[in-house]
Amino acid sequence: MISIYGYTLERLETILVEKGYKKFNARQIYEWLYKKKVKSFDEMTNLSLNLREFLSNNFEISLLEATNVKVSHDGTTKLLFKLHDNYMIEAVLMLQPYGNSICISSQVGCNMGCKFCASGLLKKSRNLEVSELVLEVLSMENITKKDITHIVIMGTGEPFDNYDNIIDFLNIINSPYGMEIGIRHITISTSGIVPKIKEFGDLELGVNLAISLHASNDELRNKIMPINKRYPIKELLDAANYYFDKTKRRITFEYILLENVNDLKENAIELASLVKNINCYINLIPYNAVDEFDFKGSSEDRVMAFYDILKKKGVNVTVRKKHGDDIDAACGQLRLNVFKDS
Ligand code: SAH
Ligand code: SF4
Repeated sequence: MISIYGYTLERLETILVEKGYKKFNARQIYEWLYKKKVKSFDEMTNLSLNLREFLSNNFEISLLEATNVKVSHDGTTKLLFKLHDNYMIEAVLMLQPYGNSICISSQVGCNMGCKFCASGLLKKSRNLEVSELVLEVLSMENITKKDITHIVIMGTGEPFDNYDNIIDFLNIINSPYGMEIGIRHITISTSGIVPKIKEFGDLELGVNLAISLHASNDELRNKIMPINKRYPIKELLDAANYYFDKTKRRITFEYILLENVNDLKENAIELASLVKNINCYINLIPYNAVDEFDFKGSSEDRVMAFYDILKKKGVNVTVRKKHGDDIDAACGQLRLNVFKDS
């Protein structure tokens, strides 16, 4: 059966009207699902018995099953969810001063092949369905009993390789009749699929965009991120500017610091000049070591030296705080480790 959580309000309205029900019934259902968060159609007491029966005969309303729960000393919670076809995906909840932020996966595995990333080790098996994206959020809330206020699409997978489902997902969680998670509280991270960045900009939604840059020139980026051979840095930066022009949202560039690979003084200087005409932040990310790879995260001294150069050159730069490093919280790591153990 099909999950009820995969339907945008508009789509649900169309189906109900086609079947002879009222358009406003869709809003009522949305309120039960996303505001009151009931777990059965029987609890939707303002709907006719006939409609409740139609819903239970045609749609599923269950949450995702978590097979592994890890809670860090800093309150970070990492869940491994089992999907209907037994694939596993992970989601992480981080408690922040400004709210509770969930990092969700967008695909089962990833095909982009970045050389430092655990997610890429298990190739993409399939895209996540719209309902599965929504259910990562609802199931996390249900298990942790924490209200989620922010969403980052930064877990396993390349969101712009699952574009249409991501758009429906944004529509559902942003709906005023649903969870109403503000567009400005949502961030999508992409490895740099240029045409999709532009297409997404054209929608003018105003979602925050983070771009995984990780290198200061094409030669280096080609080596660690194969996507760069298709969409080199110049095209990527043009797309970033295009996105800013359309949405007026400042772009974040993510830059993992890998010792003696991309963390040299020259890299910092090169990086500063790359972004000098872009309205952006640079987020320096401490690397979470992955057993399978030889990369080593830069030492704190080197991170600070890199930071200082950017700062002196007037770049808006921050160093990302580590969350849950005692529970394999890095992208793809828990899934990979459970996979290795089993
Ligand atoms: N595919 C998208 C989103 C998922 S990856 C993207 O690449 O942007 C989210 C972020 O985590 C990316 O910036 C990615 O480069 C980074 N990342 C991957 N492996 C990591 C690791 N071991 N340590 C720290 N960051 C990592
Ligand atoms: Fe995929 Fe992002 Fe990992 Fe690259 S960094 S392999 S795009 S999940």
